[in-house]
Amino acid sequence: MKVPFYGHVRQYHNIKAEIDANMQEVLESGQYVMGPMLDKFEKELAAYHGMKHAIGVNSGTDALWLAFMALGIGPGDECITTTNTFFATAEAIWIAGATAVFVDSDAVTNNIDPSKIEAAITEKTKMIVPVHLYGQCADMKAIRKIADKHKLYVIEDNAQAIGAHGDGFKVGELSDGVCTSFIIQKNLGTFGDGGALVTNNTDLDREVRRMRNHGSLKRSVHSYGFNSRLDDLHAGILSAKLKHIDEFSDLRRKWAARFTAGLAGAKSITLPSETPGYRHVFHLYVIETKQPEHRDPLLDFLLKNGVDAKCHYPIAIHQQEGYPWGKQARIAGPIPNSERNAACCISMPMFPELTEEEVDYCVAKLLEWEKSLD
Ligand SMILES: *Cc1c(COP(=O)(O)O)cnc(C)c1O
Repeated sequence: MKVPFYGHVRQYHNIKAEIDANMQEVLESGQYVMGPMLDKFEKELAAYHGMKHAIGVNSGTDALWLAFMALGIGPGDECITTTNTFFATAEAIWIAGATAVFVDSDAVTNNIDPSKIEAAITEKTKMIVPVHLYGQCADMKAIRKIADKHKLYVIEDNAQAIGAHGDGFKVGELSDGVCTSFIIQKNLGTFGDGGALVTNNTDLDREVRRMRNHGSLKRSVHSYGFNSRLDDLHAGILSAKLKHIDEFSDLRRKWAARFTAGLAGAKSITLPSETPGYRHVFHLYVIETKQPEHRDPLLDFLLKNGVDAKCHYPIAIHQQEGYPWGKQARIAGPIPNSERNAACCISMPMFPELTEEEVDYCVAKLLEWEKSLD
């Protein structure tokens, strides 16, 4: 059996009529950039979050750095985040010209450990950027308290967790803005690239709206800006998929529960956990080998047996060669949890269109590998 890592084409076939109808509407309208479909999707996305504004941009990365720059983050400023995330989280801080300060992640959730944040704060600190890694929210209540005490901005990197919530809080409720990615492999993915900022802050909305379109809110009137727009064709695809996002999340949760039940007796791996009261949307189902030296052999075994597993992220940001050591980044304190996460993680196939047979096959292969250790 072969189990793919993604189900993009399966998903397209399942809701083809709705996607095709929206694409057709855009194609026939003659309005492909900053047209009515973008406007409609932005309103739907804001409403989905229960927030005031959504601004479609070129990518999740752009949503991050546009938000940072719009808040006035720049050279000399420090932004606290984690190193066990996709490279773009820190990259966006660097694009804005600021310094990334990495603190450790929590041993269980792999999200930023709020108890490590205060020790990393200096007079230069301006912002905290929690990442809702793998589809589960970081501890936003604790982060909000620290941000209030030290007067810091909080921008949520929500590329992986659309539809998630915490214990008594929604994404976006406790921050200045939420950045989402629509690259195809994300939970809400278009057939290409895209991203958005969702915010209740009207000034931030206006500034990012202006900056994404050559610094222009009014025809022919420009100030400092960029070209980072979400095309209407993508907005149409995303509008069709947004209607199904809660169903998609429920299916991801169902497959995650099936993995977890099937693997309950496994001793050599740690399974992902859901914090009580939280809704994890399982962008990824990430197991960790208890022994770092087991990770690569297990990954090889899965691949040889047709299970297209991957690692997110085997090289933490501070371990990358492209990591700008020196003035634009520093590590605050030891980060053993983030380093363990990088060394031990394996992402199993996870997408809404999986089948029971596929999940059971993956489980059986993991158990077979564990047995071979005896
Ligand atoms: C995907 C991702 C991004 C970047 O999104 P793009 O749309 O690819 O630019 C940023 N942060 C995290 C955590 C991501 O997973």
